[in-house]
Amino acid sequence: MMAAICTHLDQILVRAPEEVAGCEECLKVGGQWVHLRVCRSCGQVGCCDSSPGQHASRHAAATGHPIVSSLEPGEDWSFCYVDEVAFVVESR
Ligand SMILES: [Zn+2]
Ligand SMILES: [Zn+2]
Ligand SMILES: [Zn+2]
Repeated sequence: MMAAICTHLDQILVRAPEEVAGCEECLKVGGQWVHLRVCRSCGQVGCCDSSPGQHASRHAAATGHPIVSSLEPGEDWSFCYVDEVAFVVESR
């Protein structure tokens, strides 16, 4: 895991949820996702870039919210779209 060189840690405003139903945008349109990510600025749940919808990165691009965290079981990494760096946040 890379060292944290992200300068947007102050934009982590919400905790990662314990349980989610799935990608919010995919659920609306009946789409499917591969992996789930949660926006740490507003809590929106989206799907990863391996998913057809790529809603997590599209949300980041549309809103400017920089950081998502993985919601996959056993994964605790986060990713900043601005700095394009993965890191582990101490407090989830
Ligand atoms: Zn950053
Ligand atoms: Zn999606
Ligand atoms: Zn957001």
